Amino acid sequence: MTLFPLFADINGRRVVVVGGGSVAERKVGSLLAAGASVVVGATAFTAELLLLKNQGSIETIEGLFEENWLDQAWLVVAATNDQAANRHIAHCAEKRRILINVVDDAQLSSFQMPAIIDRSPLIVAVSSSGTAPVLARRVRERIETVLDHSLGALATLAEKYRPAIRRLRPKLRQRREFYDWLLDGPVAAALRKQQGLQAESELKKKLEQTQSATQGKVALVGAGPGDPGLLTIKALRALNEADVILYDRLVSPDILALARRDALRIAVGKTPGEDHNATQQRIHDLLLDHARSGSYVVRLKGGDAFVFGRGGEELEFLSEHRIPYEVVPGITAALACAAYAGIPLTHRDHAQSVRLITAHSCKDGDSNDWHSLAQARQTLAFYMGVSQLPWLTARLIEHGRAGDTPFALIENGTRSNQRVLHGALKDLPALAAEHAFQAPSLLVIGEVAALAEQLQWFGASISAHTASDESAAQAKGLAKAA
Ligand code: SAH
Repeated sequence: MTLFPLFADINGRRVVVVGGGSVAERKVGSLLAAGASVVVGATAFTAELLLLKNQGSIETIEGLFEENWLDQAWLVVAATNDQAANRHIAHCAEKRRILINVVDDAQLSSFQMPAIIDRSPLIVAVSSSGTAPVLARRVRERIETVLDHSLGALATLAEKYRPAIRRLRPKLRQRREFYDWLLDGPVAAALRKQQGLQAESELKKKLEQTQSATQGKVALVGAGPGDPGLLTIKALRALNEADVILYDRLVSPDILALARRDALRIAVGKTPGEDHNATQQRIHDLLLDHARSGSYVVRLKGGDAFVFGRGGEELEFLSEHRIPYEVVPGITAALACAAYAGIPLTHRDHAQSVRLITAHSCKDGDSNDWHSLAQARQTLAFYMGVSQLPWLTARLIEHGRAGDTPFALIENGTRSNQRVLHGALKDLPALAAEHAFQAPSLLVIGEVAALAEQLQWFGASISAHTASDESAAQAKGLAKAA
């Protein structure tokens, strides 16, 4: 079940708490902190609750629950230790469409009270949807340590100057820059030192400085192979700040989900069969238009932008048009797939070099030097479409690479649906077809590929039954050598 998170304004609104023990007391505390008008109904009350009553902070009703307690209520908290009573209260609330929290009972509850990190007015709420409060508390403890206590004061200051910031920084981009400065610069530093007046005067000084028109820029960002954990911190930051994101087909949805919510996302993926040059032209036009209108454009590519990603062409274009840019490298498919399949790309005994090769389409003209590619003692990592496998295998064997050279074909590398197929080169086309391997797949050829059978630690592994005994024996020998 997915819960809908919301922050409710319960100031002055009637909230009924049923139960008068220590659990009820805790809930009453958080409700009062939000300014609720709290009514506690129970047969007995803790001393603290009685004190609150005497101070006039809460109202109490003594006795067993009656449905009319819920009249005019916005929220209900059931905190009795009687399951049947809790169920009855939940039933009454449900009938009246009043949201209810039954303490420690996600099933009976229609809302949960999250664990919170309080830097009022900044509040971070954490919920495990009622399934694992301990987990939520753990996460809260972690976040507590990274959010400085002066953040509350910073948020208060930002709120005070919000209208002025809007007026003096009319463009969204300018405002975002201002807020970045506010969070990272001298204002935050002064507040951390409890120097409120100093902070405020820094803020005013900066706000009154006139602004030149903001210039757009482009970041060419490598998104890695799919697992969001493999993004760099710089890539994540770029995604958080982007106004516009132009992304390729290979970029995983998990990664796009990390981008700033209101960023404009434009899919510019090349699909097989269409005119790639026309698509590339369209990408150039989009880069130019958005950057010239002052946006921060993130050009997001699978893997690394400079490895078979046409990143160079895009930079040449930007440079010709004097658009500022930066490049954030990503983990390229060969490195990532090999790592997640347990294949060391070089190996003291078996491979002194590794080559990254593209073999996407023989139609584009085949300029690869197959004679040199077929040499032993090197690892080949092919970026290719699966339809190229028969052709590619034939070329290598024809030029002298042994038919029993181990291969590993990695489909959807680093993603939750990763599959790795192992076998001998001569069997590759038949095996890939038999197991219906699809794009994106990366092919590793060389003695080191045999190690995957033993060292793979992630995803599914398919070992070829048709592999020759010789290559199986070789695989074993190699694994031992490693
Ligand atoms: N710039 C990218 C490569 C683009 S070419 C990079 O650095 O990784 C596209 C090819 O990369 C695909 O056809 C496939 O061979 C390979 N590839 C990319 N991501 C992959 C993944 N997650 N798993 C397997 N192969 C992948």
